[in-house]
Amino acid sequence: MARPKPAAKAPKVRKAQLTHTVGDFEAAFWPDESPVDNAVVMTMGALHEGHAALIRAARKEVGPEGRVAVTVFVNPLQFAPSEDLDRYPRSLAADVRLAEEHGADVVFAPLPEEVYPNGTPQVRLSAGPMGERFEGATRPGHFDGVLTVVAKLLHITDPDYAFFGEKDAQQLAIIQRMVADLDFDVEVIGVPTIRETDGLALSSRNRYLSETERTQALALSRALFAGRDVAAKGPAAVREAAAQVLAEADGIDLDYLALIDPHDFVEAPDDFQGEAVLAVAAKVGSTRLIDNVRLQVR
Ligand code: AMP
Repeated sequence: MARPKPAAKAPKVRKAQLTHTVGDFEAAFWPDESPVDNAVVMTMGALHEGHAALIRAARKEVGPEGRVAVTVFVNPLQFAPSEDLDRYPRSLAADVRLAEEHGADVVFAPLPEEVYPNGTPQVRLSAGPMGERFEGATRPGHFDGVLTVVAKLLHITDPDYAFFGEKDAQQLAIIQRMVADLDFDVEVIGVPTIRETDGLALSSRNRYLSETERTQALALSRALFAGRDVAAKGPAAVREAAAQVLAEADGIDLDYLALIDPHDFVEAPDDFQGEAVLAVAAKVGSTRLIDNVRLQVR
């Protein structure tokens, strides 16, 4: 009699566990003492393909046996009173599904009272001068709020790796600097920006845009690509090409367009050469959008 064929090895079905308290998170993220690599992806929820790319990168880094945590927390500290804290999109059930599909083991979605049990923290981290330019000029205190929650979530999750998107280039640079300056024992890894096929950078805030505004918003990535196309001609040509696209665009209320030296996140001098970030921030209708590209300036 023929032997039955061995069953094909079933693909590992990963179930992500949803936790809301630090205690439950810790029990889920460290079920035993096994020495595996672990990684965290911090988000404000309303997850999309950009977040998915971070989660996949985290899974790839730690391998199939490693652990990946996704945090979902809309951090009140990084919103000014005039900003969109109350209307920020929330979709936790869908977020857990997306996180799970792309390789997360645990989702940590705490309430503000869990993260800040003593109320608004009296002691906060300061992003220093790097946090006062560009985004920081329009959003005073924003990066102090970001660093404070990132530091707390690094303490809670204690990862080997933390993944952040290049989409928020200034945030990534400041977090890398915090980790270096304050000796955090974690490797911060940046992940390239995911875009729609027409160039629009994915963002949770895109869902605020009307159809017309969405079309108008394409001028931002168009301007960045136009600048990148002339990177070989130097900083002045890059700035001019990008500014030209924005000047001809409808419905764009420009905050800044800047060619930035990514090291200290300062405006690149006119004779700058090397890797730079061309960044733009603008309001389209009532929605504030940011975007950037990396380019080699010569
Ligand atoms: P947020 O939920 O907007 O705070 O974003 C959480 C993380 O996802 C941050 O590290 C962002 O930089 C990153 N991220 C957001 N949008 C994108 C995108 N389109 N491509 C890559 N990463 C992104």
